Amino acid sequence: MCAATIIDGKSIAKELRGKIKERVAALAIKPCLAAILVGDDPSSHIYVRNKVKACEEAGLQSVLKLLPADTQPAALSTLIDTLNADKNVHGILLQLPLPAHLTANDFIQRIHPAKDVDGLNYTNIGKLVAGLDTMTPCTPQGVLMLLQKTLGALEGKHAVIIGRSLLFGKPMAQLLLQQNCTVTHCHSKTKDLPTLCRAADILIAATGQPKMVEASWIKPDACVIDVGITRLENGGISGDVDFNAVQAVAKFITPVPGGVGPMTIACLLANTLKAAENC
Ligand code: NDP
Repeated sequence: MCAATIIDGKSIAKELRGKIKERVAALAIKPCLAAILVGDDPSSHIYVRNKVKACEEAGLQSVLKLLPADTQPAALSTLIDTLNADKNVHGILLQLPLPAHLTANDFIQRIHPAKDVDGLNYTNIGKLVAGLDTMTPCTPQGVLMLLQKTLGALEGKHAVIIGRSLLFGKPMAQLLLQQNCTVTHCHSKTKDLPTLCRAADILIAATGQPKMVEASWIKPDACVIDVGITRLENGGISGDVDFNAVQAVAKFITPVPGGVGPMTIACLLANTLKAAENC
């Protein structure tokens, strides 16, 4: 049996960032992303630093707004209102999670839909469900690109998605329906998950449960996309898929790291560019 081909998210994301850089260079204005980070969460600081660095490398401008962990709701609302009104800011990113006393959704919904580069504002989610052009959430947008690059047209394929978050699972299902896939959507209450997964041409796992997807769940020739990233106690990271075992059965597979993650950042740049082009 042949091992699966590894989908190289790093190089596909690099290609996308290169195209974004060319489009940015041809634009009369410089697209600007404002990133808001509240508190001291070390992982969030790393994620935001990487996003700011990616902006700079692609020729976009970035503004980092660092707020203390005890920031009051009114202060965060005021900052978002100020950035909404700032003509030089095209995209606003609110890094999650927020400290426990701040309700993330209150602030996500406060970001103007035209600057909502994470695509989580209800206006943008509604447009996505209606099949209209919108700000599509970055990770599902990136996964769709990986799938199209790997498999070509997706029409008629049976996609099984594990995970139904608003951030990933639900928009992913919408994007695949738009591509005329048949979508089975699974979650923690799904019965007999392995049997459903074995029917998948495309299996996408986004649960945050390390290595829960086993080789026996995979149809030979399936394309397996691992969205999960869990930081382990030993300092390493794990995806949701038992990579070594599943690689022996699947036809294509994304690694963790180096699969979906780089696409998420590239699509954030793409959304910021789109916001600037639309303004
Ligand atoms: P959430 O915790 O919001 O959602 C997890 C989903 O997985 C839920 O729908 C839950 O079901 C389902 N689930 C959990 N356990 C099981 C199980 N045993 N069987 C079946 N379904 C299960 O997570 P997110 O969607 O935000 O993220 C998922 C993973 O993806 C995380 O590891 C996250 O770090 C990673 N991620 C990676 C990104 C990247 O760029 N690579 C970007 C975004 C996320 P239920 O709804 O019933 O509770």
